[in-house]
Amino acid sequence: MNHQTLSRRLQLVAAHIPPGARLADIGSDHAYLPVALLRRGAISAAVAGEVALTPLRAAQRSVEHNDLQALISVRLADGLAALEPGDGITAVSLCGMGGETIRDILEQGKARLNGRERLVLQPNGGEQPLRQWLLGNGYRILAEEILRENRFDYEIIVAERAEEVRYSAEQLYFGPRLMAVRSPAFLDKWQRALRRKRQTLAGLANARQELVEEQRRGLQQEIGWIEGMLGALPVDGPRG
Ligand code: SAM
Repeated sequence: MNHQTLSRRLQLVAAHIPPGARLADIGSDHAYLPVALLRRGAISAAVAGEVALTPLRAAQRSVEHNDLQALISVRLADGLAALEPGDGITAVSLCGMGGETIRDILEQGKARLNGRERLVLQPNGGEQPLRQWLLGNGYRILAEEILRENRFDYEIIVAERAEEVRYSAEQLYFGPRLMAVRSPAFLDKWQRALRRKRQTLAGLANARQELVEEQRRGLQQEIGWIEGMLGALPVDGPRG
């Protein structure tokens, strides 16, 4: 992958950045996303934020190599601290980090958001707590994508602030848009998850400690949701 040939994952992220956006790509690493979008003329300017020096330097090299220094500001900053008042940012992407990390970055930096930016998020796991944060902060999920690449399931969540937002616990768990569309990639992901969770639950069957009991109850709830969503039959055998 490079700035010319984005991975399928980043292509899908790119497709949700509004045309002409002023993009802040936080955790940009090589800055592949903003560089590719600017080379295509799809956005008007970008900030590439990085908290670590090695990826920051990689981003600086990509930007210089493509002669985009006038349009992309590469900044060493923790999360949304990369945003400055004069940037006029209209879209923020946070990709390739755990969902909890993305949630924490949004929570710690929310005072820097003006509420009109589109958020394009690609968590590596931890989608449920991230959706919970979006709900708690008045964001509506406009679109979701799921894809499998290099044996990983990736989800993309696109959100904007809205007046009234309501999601059920199952919608936060599966993703409201993904659940509505039920794509083959989505159903495959949850078939695999169901097998894994059933195995884990069976492994806990004889354990007694209180912590395990809590884990077992959590797993039972998740398995129930997945079975309900897939229309799968519950397996016989110990469930509790
Ligand atoms: N966004 C690119 C992508 O999706 O391909 C790069 C993903 S890379 C796996 C995650 C990057 O996020 C790393 O370069 C890491 O340094 C950066 N990162 C992690 N926490 C961060 C934070 N709080 N602020 C800025 N960058 C952060």
